[in-house]
Amino acid sequence: MIQVPQDKPNYIGRFAPSPSGLLHLGSLVAAVGSYLQSKANKGEWLVRIEDLDPPREIAGATDAILQSLEAHGLHWDKDITYQSERTEIYQEVLDQLLNSHNAYPCSCSRKEIAVLAERGELGMIYPGTCRNGPTQTTREHFSYRLRTKNAFIAFDDIRLGRRSQHLRREIGDFVIKRTDGYFAYQLAVVVDDALQGMTEIVRGEDLLPNTPRQIYLQIILGYPTPRYLHLPLVTNSRGQKLCKQHHAPALDNAKASENIVTALRFLGHTPPDFLSSAEPVELLDWATQNWEPEKLPFFSAFKGKH
Ligand code: GLU
Repeated sequence: MIQVPQDKPNYIGRFAPSPSGLLHLGSLVAAVGSYLQSKANKGEWLVRIEDLDPPREIAGATDAILQSLEAHGLHWDKDITYQSERTEIYQEVLDQLLNSHNAYPCSCSRKEIAVLAERGELGMIYPGTCRNGPTQTTREHFSYRLRTKNAFIAFDDIRLGRRSQHLRREIGDFVIKRTDGYFAYQLAVVVDDALQGMTEIVRGEDLLPNTPRQIYLQIILGYPTPRYLHLPLVTNSRGQKLCKQHHAPALDNAKASENIVTALRFLGHTPPDFLSSAEPVELLDWATQNWEPEKLPFFSAFKGKH
């Protein structure tokens, strides 16, 4: 049985990049926001590399991400955690979920799901085809899904207020281990956040729709639920979230101070003039002293409800 740590510091936060691309301004904002929330609360700030999806990984991205964080004065506490080294733990948790009938093997292909599934705001809603046992028992590979039962999950985001989701109606039973054998983000993130004792999750608002699934998993697994703060998203001139698919340029480490100022302004904290030629660490020290989460801009990159 996996045990959650009992005595821990008052605040533990994290930045958890995936090495599927290099850091860009959007990811810097998430890194800076989570760093400042941790440091302003005299907490620890950990870095976890979410390298669970080798097909999407870019060679050299992990090293480049870490170099970029260092160049921007974002120094982490403790050793870095790599999800690729933790698959035995995820398997143990999956077995626990299977034994308690909270998870089940699923033989459906995407195509088969597409025929039956309704489409919700967040994509196809799994219709529950394999809920009572895989329909195609001769398949070689199965995915594993979490049984969502009738869960209605509500939580209070520090910036956005109350959010809620009816899991079965809006998402359906969701994948926690993929057909190709890799563990899904939802399972790994919940296990690691709990085992690392995270007290608060600060990350981009693009991840907000995942939070109810993660809270549901925490409840089933008996883990504590951390607080959540979802940060506004940096968008390009066409209003699209900065990301690899939209060709967001990688951060230029030679312009680290400038990048930190841009990120701080975006987060509602404009450094004073006397810091105009300051190093990244000095800017981050100033921001730690002056950090007020209430100043985070309230605008949502998403339309409709999450
Ligand atoms: N690894 C995820 C990403 O890079 C972030 C996960 C999280 O912060 O929960 O988008």
